[in-house]
Amino acid sequence: MSAIKLCVIGTGLIGGSLALALKQKKYCAEIIGAGRSEATLKKAVELGVVDHYETSPENAVADADIVVVAVPLGAMHAVFKSISTALKPGAIVTDAGSAKQSVIMDAAKSLASHFANFVPGHPIAGTEQSGVAAAFAELYQQRRVILTPTDKTSTDAVNAVTAMWQTAGAEVECMSAEHHDLVLAGTSHLPHLLAFGLVDCLNNLDDVDEVFRFAAGGFRDFTRIASSDPVMWRDICLSNKDAVMDMMRRYRDQMDDMYKSMEAGDGEALKQVFERAKKARDDFCG
Ligand code: NAP
Repeated sequence: MSAIKLCVIGTGLIGGSLALALKQKKYCAEIIGAGRSEATLKKAVELGVVDHYETSPENAVADADIVVVAVPLGAMHAVFKSISTALKPGAIVTDAGSAKQSVIMDAAKSLASHFANFVPGHPIAGTEQSGVAAAFAELYQQRRVILTPTDKTSTDAVNAVTAMWQTAGAEVECMSAEHHDLVLAGTSHLPHLLAFGLVDCLNNLDDVDEVFRFAAGGFRDFTRIASSDPVMWRDICLSNKDAVMDMMRRYRDQMDDMYKSMEAGDGEALKQVFERAKKARDDFCG
């Protein structure tokens, strides 16, 4: 067991699963939890996710070597601000937020001299469940974690955070925050908007019960992520607004083209879209 003291602020699905994975691997000497409600923190101790907790983030980070901030994007700034003067010299701070440019701006504004030891991160793993009870140690096995260091980020801090995620079972890649936000807007943020939007659209139909009663596996597959946490997804969409809106425009243009093909009864045009999409997905899914 190493002597590392880890603090996890936000012991929900993402922070809780990381804590459980790291405990299993005996990565650290102790894990301190912090967050919003004491009820969640008590539950985190009961479930063996953290060793103990502090209700104030300042107290929680005071002795920590690595601090993982896994709260909703809208809460990042306040959390960074509350811990900035309490961190010990050399403490490393990282986060798990699903958009990176906004978190980097929040950290740059609030972490002051600790900003060089801040490593922005995003695990590409999750489920539609939230909360500490949904956390499980295997969540990051063979999943990717993207780190988006800035030109001010210390290499030692990046190496330490890389080692932490690798211990939890993940593969770590580095890229720019701009690139991350663009890629994730297309592959994660837009799909969530589509799922929420489709379910809401059908829910507004007069015979909605009939529609949902006959919904089959394809509908369930497509809309599973519409069961995700609404507050979290509001924050993600607004935090990555420009890139998400760009993807929405592209998708709207695609829908407009397909609508025109339908209107014209142009089956060939539709078939070409479906064939291109099927090939791309089959190739991607291996
Ligand atoms: P979650 O299960 O809802 O957990 C969020 C945790 O943050 C809870 O412990 C919550 O405490 C705490 N929290 C909420 N507001 C807070 C505040 N103002 N101050 C301090 N703590 C606060 O959410 P999650 O799925 O773990 O997501 C956490 C982060 O990971 C988000 O930034 C999200 O973008 C990112 N992420 C999520 C996924 C995913 O699929 N879920 C994947 C990758 C990255 P309470 O229980 O007391 O509310």
